[in-house]
Amino acid sequence: MSSCLFCRIASAEIPAKVIYQDAAVLAFEDVNPQAPLHCLIIPRRHIASLNDLTPEDTGLVGTMQYRAAMLAKERGYGERGYRTIFNCQADAGQTVFHIHLHLLAGRSLGWPPG
Ligand code: 5GP
Ligand code: ZN
Repeated sequence: MSSCLFCRIASAEIPAKVIYQDAAVLAFEDVNPQAPLHCLIIPRRHIASLNDLTPEDTGLVGTMQYRAAMLAKERGYGERGYRTIFNCQADAGQTVFHIHLHLLAGRSLGWPPG
């Protein structure tokens, strides 16, 4: 989708600090990090929000979650811990309408979230 920021990052039309990529997903550093490690895991294929998932997407979402866990462990946060978050629509603060899994680690994260 040519007007979508994260589709443009996925196609390398817009630069990002990519830390992992394969045929299905891409992980890159968040431009406004909220923790020492804050990256976004996205599917290459455009899906606007979690509301748009279909039964065929369940494997893809599992792949995103698995990749977040692998990245956190590779960077040494497996024992200390980390958080993964999908924001969906306005109340959750979704601002980019191409699904993305936030991975945050490296500081104590408050609960409940704001
Ligand atoms: P949301 O609020 O939709 O869950 O998260 C969107 C995230 O995308 C935010 O954390 C924001 O900092 C990040 N972001 C927005 N624009 C860009 C960009 O152009 N490049 C990168 N790397 N991250 C971005
Ligand atoms: Zn997109």
